[in-house]
Amino acid sequence: MNKLIVKKFGGTSVANAERIEAVADLVAKSVEDGNEVVVVLSAMGKSTDELIKLSKDINPNPDLREYDALVSTGEQISVALLAMALQKRNIKGKSFTAYQLGIRTNSVHSSARILDVQVKKIKEEISSGVVPVITGFQGMNDEGDITTLGRGGSDTTGVAIAVALEASECQIYTDVDGVFTTDPRLYDKARLLKKITFEEMLELSSMGAKVLQLRAVEYASKYQMPIRVLSSFNAGEGTLIEEEDESMERPIVSGISSIDSEAKLTLRGVPDIPGVAAKILGPISEAGIEVDVIVQNISAENTTDFTFTVNEADAAAAEAILLEMSNSFGGGLVEVDSDIAKISIVGRGMRAHAGIASKMFEALANEEINILLITTSEIKISVVIKRDSMKDAIVCLHDAFDLDKE
Ligand code: ASP
Ligand code: MG
Repeated sequence: MNKLIVKKFGGTSVANAERIEAVADLVAKSVEDGNEVVVVLSAMGKSTDELIKLSKDINPNPDLREYDALVSTGEQISVALLAMALQKRNIKGKSFTAYQLGIRTNSVHSSARILDVQVKKIKEEISSGVVPVITGFQGMNDEGDITTLGRGGSDTTGVAIAVALEASECQIYTDVDGVFTTDPRLYDKARLLKKITFEEMLELSSMGAKVLQLRAVEYASKYQMPIRVLSSFNAGEGTLIEEEDESMERPIVSGISSIDSEAKLTLRGVPDIPGVAAKILGPISEAGIEVDVIVQNISAENTTDFTFTVNEADAAAAEAILLEMSNSFGGGLVEVDSDIAKISIVGRGMRAHAGIASKMFEALANEEINILLITTSEIKISVVIKRDSMKDAIVCLHDAFDLDKE
């Protein structure tokens, strides 16, 4: 069975010489099983953080071309070391930088996007029995400068290479066993999912992002490249993330994600006239602040309340903008609440089932958890609640939807 597999290993998987040897064993095993393997690596352990810190020590606002030239070096170290470890096992490991292979990106330094991957050279190497070991996280722009893809970008490199080579799957090795029904640190009954769709993984964003870069999931979804998330520490099949097909079961709820790093802002007494929402959120987005949940109330006496959530770190800046704006709207009160958490239940089976929301709300009511905001999409229901009830909410919802059972 001659399969082409791209294996991407994250920082913890290659954190030291011992770990690199363990990864070399994993790769060697797959080659012995008859697969053609292409490896993509992150930098060792926390080395990218250290490089970033070094650059900030010199200049808090470094020139981004030089920043990329610096932070891309972490991956050059890990690929060379793994190539050596493979050679020790009589496997023709050979390191390549994105530059050597022609992974072309746009010119947005520090968060570039991959435009295309030249496959001729990699294919030649593979057919001569080489296991290419490629730097993740980086590319080159049309000027021939090194670019990087943003934190966690090696996942996207792995997927992009898998797509370009038409691999059978892209395996992303990390330090967890895969994707769970909820964060196992928050509830020990969390169960490892065997399969999940791209769409669900994207909707479980806060939980998903702990496991892999969501941009990589978007990329894989666009080209229908299956991703398998698995541990390089423990043996196991991990979680397969793929396009939904007819044969797949449709669980009503596949997973529960939670986020406790947002704050909720409310502007009261907003005139109920066209254009107001745009007027409020325009300056917020111009300030580079990302908005998550947005709720506008039904109006009473021609005014309404406008509520939204942002990352807690942006709450003060957003509050300042609202305070200024409130004057032009007649001085309505601005309220900020950082004591919140957002819990979402996600499942592709929700489309075909009614009553999921009421079951969710009932479970929360039984625990006397008060709901502050509710939003829904086709396959997701989210509630904002008090932060100290987050764990209880996860537990009661996980139990209510029997997520510990397959
Ligand atoms: N080494 C880079 C980072 O830490 C890229 C990656 O790990 O995916 O962000
Ligand atoms: Mg990573």
